[in-house]
Amino acid sequence: MNRPRYERTRFLLFPRPPGQEELVEPEEIQVSLQAGSIGPGPADDRMYAIYPHDKLVTYGTEINRNGEQFSPPWHGSIHEPALPDENGHFTHLELGTPQFEAAHLYGCTRFVLDIWEGYFDQPIHWHFGDIYERMELVIMPRFTNATMGFGFMEIGGYDIDENGYQPFSLNFDVIGHEVGHSIIYPIIGLPDPERVHHDYYGFHESAADMVALISSLHFESALDHLLETTHGNLYALNSLNRIGKLSKNEQIRIASNELTLWDFTDGWTDEHDLGQPLTAAIFDTLVDIFHDSMKDWGLVTEEIIEISDALEDQDEYLSVMQDFFDQIYDAQWGQMRQALIEARDIIGTILATTFAKLTPQLTYKDVANALVLAEQEVCNGAYRTILIHNLKKRGIGDVMVGPRLSEPDQNSHAFSVRTQLPGGKRRRCRHTRR
Ligand SMILES: [Zn+2]
Repeated sequence: MNRPRYERTRFLLFPRPPGQEELVEPEEIQVSLQAGSIGPGPADDRMYAIYPHDKLVTYGTEINRNGEQFSPPWHGSIHEPALPDENGHFTHLELGTPQFEAAHLYGCTRFVLDIWEGYFDQPIHWHFGDIYERMELVIMPRFTNATMGFGFMEIGGYDIDENGYQPFSLNFDVIGHEVGHSIIYPIIGLPDPERVHHDYYGFHESAADMVALISSLHFESALDHLLETTHGNLYALNSLNRIGKLSKNEQIRIASNELTLWDFTDGWTDEHDLGQPLTAAIFDTLVDIFHDSMKDWGLVTEEIIEISDALEDQDEYLSVMQDFFDQIYDAQWGQMRQALIEARDIIGTILATTFAKLTPQLTYKDVANALVLAEQEVCNGAYRTILIHNLKKRGIGDVMVGPRLSEPDQNSHAFSVRTQLPGGKRRRCRHTRR
């Protein structure tokens, strides 16, 4: 049988973590690399996945009094790597095995990197590329967090009471968020502890969430699920705005939230919270562009848009608008789906263009200005008014955030190994706050 000249490598990925109340099937996706070019691990020239037997200490931990850190590569023993099938694909692995987890972690990372290299329209080089050619993707079941740092991404898991253990290696949103950080560092640069503004940390968490959220909309089944459950009314409680969803009642962060920067004028304690107003402004803009795109497809009238705008933030919004969305979904599901894909790619391209304009000294005002400039470049001002409206509604660009009110804790990603450089060039941002 003749093989096509360029066949992309296939993986099975879960758009949402399995093992919860709803049944979630994995979806077969393709990464950009040619079938047969990805080696055991999986491994390629940018990254490799490993599942150590007993790696209990995270990278970045000090291992002696000279400040030397534990750093990749891992030299200890590992589970057998995931091997490709005879055609070079990784879809044959059995769920519940270390090999499936390793392939899932690698597949998610590669999938997100491919998507964002598409939005940037150029390759993204790791910020640690001078020292480590490839990122080590490590599965550490006893680590109760997920993080990335200089040359690595470490993925743990989480104990959920009634549902048991959830490995983050099967959680696309968690991995996508970490890849988001890994993408933003080389584009914007690492912060200088002496000069960094605290807005940087809020921005970073928000940007990582948006990278994960936009990427999750590249699963065909996620698009279908989202439209099935909302009929296109994205402000309704839905799966899209639960990032890193762990169980039905527990969600790490919500993209469609009510927070504004005015909520932080007295100060803040957690950069994830500080990122939420920006995430919400971007999410609102995504929804507005989706509505506009539906208008272009002839799915909604100007009158419906006006009713939607008038009811924004009011209690009747969901019930009144749901009727409109139900009718459109029933009659023109395919076009609605296409409009959502358009909105997804417009926001993805605007975000990539925005990231490329920022520096590690950024403030939220710089982010607002960069977003407006990026929109102009990408869409010629078509969404300028709604973008500015959504930013102003959250105080982004207008409001000065207050000081950090407490020392970073273990949940603080930004003040962790992420910003540490290997060897003597240690950067622990918390020192600047003392
Ligand atoms: Zn983060």
